[in-house]
Amino acid sequence: MGIRSFAVVFFMVFHAVAAQYQPLGRTAYLTSSFGESRVTRYHAGIDFSTNKEEGWPVIAPSDGIVEYAARGAFGYGRHIKFKAKDEHVWLFAHLSQFNPKIDTLIRKEVLKKEKPSVSLSSLKVRFKKGDTLAYSGSTGIGDPHLHIERRTPDSKIALNPCKDMKCTDTIAPFIIDAMPFEDGFTVKIVDYSREPLENPMSVYSLDIYQNKKLIFGKKYDSLSFANKDMAKIKEDLIEAENDTSAGNWHFIKAKVKAESKVLVVAKDFVNNVSKKELVLQKDSLKRRTKDSVEAVLDTVPPRLGKIYLKPDFAGRLQCRIPVVDSLSGLDFDSVDFRDKESKWVIFDYHFNTKEFVIERRDFDFIEPLKVKLCDKSHNCTEKGVKCAASAL
Ligand SMILES: [Zn+2]
Repeated sequence: MGIRSFAVVFFMVFHAVAAQYQPLGRTAYLTSSFGESRVTRYHAGIDFSTNKEEGWPVIAPSDGIVEYAARGAFGYGRHIKFKAKDEHVWLFAHLSQFNPKIDTLIRKEVLKKEKPSVSLSSLKVRFKKGDTLAYSGSTGIGDPHLHIERRTPDSKIALNPCKDMKCTDTIAPFIIDAMPFEDGFTVKIVDYSREPLENPMSVYSLDIYQNKKLIFGKKYDSLSFANKDMAKIKEDLIEAENDTSAGNWHFIKAKVKAESKVLVVAKDFVNNVSKKELVLQKDSLKRRTKDSVEAVLDTVPPRLGKIYLKPDFAGRLQCRIPVVDSLSGLDFDSVDFRDKESKWVIFDYHFNTKEFVIERRDFDFIEPLKVKLCDKSHNCTEKGVKCAASAL
């Protein structure tokens, strides 16, 4: 091999590696795809499995700045927005911890506002490519996972993050069924990233042919955050009645004859392809009518469960205070923990385990704490609690 061809090969290899940004610094499987249904809107990012663990480092895709950080009990939970070198914005959510540089700023804000949910914008915390921005977790919702969004510089459009990083999906989509529907037809598809088939996802692209002619094609490359665009999911995907199996019914507005054949070609976000020919024969699908949500009367105040100590992912001891309420949600603006001088004590709420978590760096665990918490129906509990009986 001559020096020049070696240089070319080196460049190609280097380029391929450089293009494969891995936000968690290791192989991570997709558990939710870009554009997946959230019933009233699309999923504007992707979710990576962290194998039910917390504390996986989240790595900077390039040199850049963290310009926004927030701490919250619901939704994104702890999350940051990172302005990359190319001006695009990356959002990482459900974090367990921030980088210490950001953590210090957020803790100051929590103590100043005496509120568990705070946010800081116009930050200018600089990081180099490969630095640890934060640690993955489960704040806001569900089991531990990392939610990732990539947005245009103005943050108005969400882009398919798998175009700019390594997404792992080893299974091609399953094309399940097709049938006539309203003024067109509908095709049911589901994708999974690995065995066991636990997290059903949507597909990246869908092309449909009839008599070798392309009659429909779509790709999920970008999604506008505008409400009217997000609401288009209702035209795009059909919420079917009495359908409990995994997968999405994609609606295709096209003139087709009953009993005619269509060739469906579906690709996932890493280009695994499936093709299937289907006959549009039965017409049994019904749209789901709006599920009525019954108002639940909550007259019982929340109760605190048995308090225990448990180390976090880095071995730091935490005080965990389980809470039980007849409704799953709590009114977090009216929760506070105070020390004996009535000073605010920083706490976190873990949505998946329904526990308040206090860190030892914020409180010594030995002094009693005063807690006051109210649910959304304003039933309140006030109590003195203790994390540990004796010196730790
Ligand atoms: Zn997500």
